[in-house]
Amino acid sequence: MEIKNEYLRDLYRRVEKRDPNEPEFLQAVGEVLQSLAPVADRRPDLIDWGVFERIVEPERMITFRVSWVDDQGKVQVNRGYRVQYNSAIGPYKGGLRLHPSVNASIIKFLGFEQTFKNSLTGLPMGGAKGGSDFDPKGKSDMEIMRFCQSFMTELYRHIGEDTDVPAGDIGVGAREIGYLFGQYKRIRNTFTGVLTGKGLTYGGSLARTEATGYGLLYFLREMLQKMKHEPVAGKTAVISGSGNVAIYACEKSQQLGMKVVAMSDSAGYVYDEKGIDLAVVKQIKEVERGRIKAYAERVPGAVYTEGCKGIWTIPCDVALPCATQNELDLAGAEALVAHGVMAVCEGANMPTTPDAAEFFQKNGVLFAPGKASNAGGVSVSGLEMSQNSMRYSWTFEEVDRKLEEIMKGIFHAAYTAAEEYGCSGDLIAGANIAGFLKVAESMKAQGI
Ligand code: GLU
Repeated sequence: MEIKNEYLRDLYRRVEKRDPNEPEFLQAVGEVLQSLAPVADRRPDLIDWGVFERIVEPERMITFRVSWVDDQGKVQVNRGYRVQYNSAIGPYKGGLRLHPSVNASIIKFLGFEQTFKNSLTGLPMGGAKGGSDFDPKGKSDMEIMRFCQSFMTELYRHIGEDTDVPAGDIGVGAREIGYLFGQYKRIRNTFTGVLTGKGLTYGGSLARTEATGYGLLYFLREMLQKMKHEPVAGKTAVISGSGNVAIYACEKSQQLGMKVVAMSDSAGYVYDEKGIDLAVVKQIKEVERGRIKAYAERVPGAVYTEGCKGIWTIPCDVALPCATQNELDLAGAEALVAHGVMAVCEGANMPTTPDAAEFFQKNGVLFAPGKASNAGGVSVSGLEMSQNSMRYSWTFEEVDRKLEEIMKGIFHAAYTAAEEYGCSGDLIAGANIAGFLKVAESMKAQGI
């Protein structure tokens, strides 16, 4: 990584010194500062107002104990987090992640990325993230409920519909949001849009479940059309993951005439030459909460392979990493390029390592960073907030149409910013610059 501005280079070194044990956070900060070099060159006022200095430090970082009782009657203790990263353009907004890998570095990098992502959507939302190192795998419904209730019993004092609005992320779907919402309501005795991703019967938005995956495909379609004059129809895709983002990315890919040949989970991947049968994946993942391996046991001709990184050796036109951070490394990128991949669109947050992303760009592969291409989820969360404030709900078609407009807008904002700042075609830089500038102007306007 090379930051081509002396001031930002020095700033990065200071962040590194302050947070030496936070590799994911440093990776995200390093990538953004690298992109912002031309901005720092042109905007000494933002340096004077300490905007760069301030944006690499979250406004508030909350950690708390979450104690709960398991089905055996034993007391369990996990650590909960909420980072209220930046509130310059709106109330804090971002998901909650439940996964054993969760720590301060992961939550901070996610909150940092969320700040730029939310800015790119054009909606008034600041950046936040939270979660816990709790592992939902193998837990009963009642254990999940008790954990969520305990988590909210602490979190409630820090959030509110005009303060901080959490949502889902890895390990947090409609079921968990329901338990969290119920507990908030019990404690506060108010029925408000304090969480998004709610069930449809109590204030959720239509199309929120589909939003991240659908949005990813709207972004891909716009990018392929504008930058390569190519349609998405007829293209072959490999999608990593099989959670909410991957499933609805697959659904929209198929609706747009693409063929999805592989999906995965943290244990391995399935390859189905005929094209993934999404109904089977939905049954396994959404109903049974099982493993992707079961797909190969049910669909004749499908092949399961242990280990999730091998998925990138499958030839495809489009790769959609929709699982987790740093899942697509240089070896994966080399295999994809060797097989002629045309575009990579990130559905997860920071799934591509920096060297892999650079390799794609150097080899003429269109590359869309997650903070732009996966912003569909939080965009519809923003629309859920609007509907809750109005005490009204839009139809699926209405929300879907708005989502498509927002995704097109994000592509154009990133594309145009890259042109204006001398890095044409580099959507990583463009997304970082466009996302940053709106937050930066607001921070400057609001003083120190
Ligand atoms: N966790 C999602 C993201 O990474 C959605 C956040 C939200 O809806 O607030 O953007």
